[in-house]
Amino acid sequence: MATMTDFPRSLIEFQQRFSNEAACAAYLFTARWPDGFVCPGCGGGKAWRLETKPWTYECAKCGRQTSVTAGTIMHHSKLPLTAWFWAAYLMATHSNGISALQLQRQLAFGSYKTAWLICAKLRRSMLAPGRSPLAGLVEVDETEIVCRSKNDPVTGGGGRSHQGKILVVGAVEVEDGGLGPGRIRLSEVADYSAASLHAFLAANLAPGATAKTDGWSGYPGAAGVSHQPHVGGKMAAHIVLPWVHRIFSNLKVWALGVYHGLRRKHFQSYLDEFVFRFNRRRTRHAAFRTLLGIAAGHRPLPYKILIAPEARL
Ligand SMILES: [Zn+2]
Repeated sequence: MATMTDFPRSLIEFQQRFSNEAACAAYLFTARWPDGFVCPGCGGGKAWRLETKPWTYECAKCGRQTSVTAGTIMHHSKLPLTAWFWAAYLMATHSNGISALQLQRQLAFGSYKTAWLICAKLRRSMLAPGRSPLAGLVEVDETEIVCRSKNDPVTGGGGRSHQGKILVVGAVEVEDGGLGPGRIRLSEVADYSAASLHAFLAANLAPGATAKTDGWSGYPGAAGVSHQPHVGGKMAAHIVLPWVHRIFSNLKVWALGVYHGLRRKHFQSYLDEFVFRFNRRRTRHAAFRTLLGIAAGHRPLPYKILIAPEARL
């Protein structure tokens, strides 16, 4: 059964399990139809595998054809399933992420363009808007990230100007009575006004959550969120809001280390990637499923919902 708990837990296991196209297709089949084939058109349970189309089944009752890749990012791709599976695995399990160039080398892709396209598609799967909002006690704070423009040197000397900075709001669930961070959210904002910050809170915090902040005037008054301000000057913020500050500094190190600084273009997608990695830090080996767009088992989702990115699980 290819349920959420059925996935390889090591590189060796992955290699053995997904060594050829048929193995990948069988995994997709079971993820889609854990209890055997069900026609999405008529509900019929009998189908023939077509010889003419790869990994496609034709319903014996109504004749409708369904591919095991429908609804996944592999659909209509000319690349082998093994290439997708391996790329997703590498991207999901690398703690810091993997560049298109590294992927090209690791998987011996013929062209950089292929590797780049796979990377871009996998990265797009990282935003899972079906996710549930942060709950309970949540640290919330803002920071500035220096970004580089196309012409800036990689190490960026000119980052002092307002132009070179992007404002970011972050939120971290506080778990175990403050001993550890839970899930996080990061969002680019235009400014630190109440309108911008309230919009962030509304989008990312569950009703009834408590926002723990440094007392900045932009936070109080957000609908459905209670507010726990800690006014104590700049120094105290690191002590009062330790987790969100740690996330910010990790984000900055990651941005420099992996990308040599983030660019303004697609900035939010970098934040989404960081959030994806952090929130799945304990389930990295399962995350390749999310990247490939393989829905969680049991409940077969209609094709239309599957291909809509906001339905990704
Ligand atoms: Zn049918």
